Amino acid sequence: MVDELPLGGTCALRGCDPKKVLVGNAEAIEWVRRLEGKGVRWEGLRVDWPELMRFKRDMIAGYSDRKERGLLDRGIEVVHGHAMFIDGHTIRVGDRRIEAKRIAIATGAKPGPLSIPGEEHLTYSNGFLDLEQLPRRIAFIGGGYISFEFAHVAARSGANVTILHRGKRSLKGFDADLAMRLADKSRKIGIDLRLERQVGWIARRGSGLTVGSVHDGSEEVVEVDMVVHGAGRGSPDRPGADRPERVPAEHFES
Ligand SMILES: Cc1cc2nc3c(=O)[nH]c(=O)nc-3n(C[C@H](O)[C@H](O)[C@H](O)COP(=O)(O)OP(=O)(O)OC[C@H]3O[C@@H](n4cnc5c(N)ncnc54)[C@H](O)[C@@H]3O)c2cc1C
Repeated sequence: MVDELPLGGTCALRGCDPKKVLVGNAEAIEWVRRLEGKGVRWEGLRVDWPELMRFKRDMIAGYSDRKERGLLDRGIEVVHGHAMFIDGHTIRVGDRRIEAKRIAIATGAKPGPLSIPGEEHLTYSNGFLDLEQLPRRIAFIGGGYISFEFAHVAARSGANVTILHRGKRSLKGFDADLAMRLADKSRKIGIDLRLERQVGWIARRGSGLTVGSVHDGSEEVVEVDMVVHGAGRGSPDRPGADRPERVPAEHFES
């Protein structure tokens, strides 16, 4: 088994599991909010983000080593490095060649490039899951499940959150009634969910960032401290499979 990152894959190390630690915390906040005035006091309640991060890191610490030992015990050799095909039965990892009758490709997904000016300012999901401090204002590009989960975590932890989604409806692919209820609920807890926004650029302004999008033919600008890519992940061999259409430059004033 070859992997260029510590063993465990996205879900256990940079996806589902660390996210669930943060979501658990956000749920606890939500419960206190719902029970306020019913025997629970809200005053003084706050999220200690650095402590939450320490807890999250403790949860996943040692996972990769345990995984690797488990594989070795079962007679599976683990090779660390980037695998590249030489031919149908041979891969190269560093200066090593590995031959096999069959080679299974299980390389997962990566965020698709947005191909917009200022893309270098984007924070990706693994970065969001490892933030030392939660920024005060966060914009998420894309209204899929990763953006929504992160947005709810951030909003309940005290951040001002905006979601910019290009479609008429967020959470495409999920049950429409449930997606609608979640959109309403998100707005009720203060998430600024903006639909039909085609993001065209990101720029640094002072210590913050600005995000430009097109809505109804005119430009709209949001000022934030962090912009998170939630615009879809695709197979590394099909970069941009999920990528939004590029907005023509004439839609923007500058
Ligand atoms: C933020 C986030 C939250 C998520 N939450 C959930 C959730 O709650 N529930 C759920 O069901 N799913 C969730 N997912 C999706 C889930 O993580 C993926 O579906 C799952 O990890 C896919 O598993 P995989 O084995 O196909 O790929 P991965 O787990 O991504 O593993 C692929 C591995 O291949 C390695 N690799 C890639 N290319 C090479 C190469 N050339 N050479 C060597 N190694 C290489 C990578 O380093 C990686 O370790 C989430 C994803 C993210 C990003």
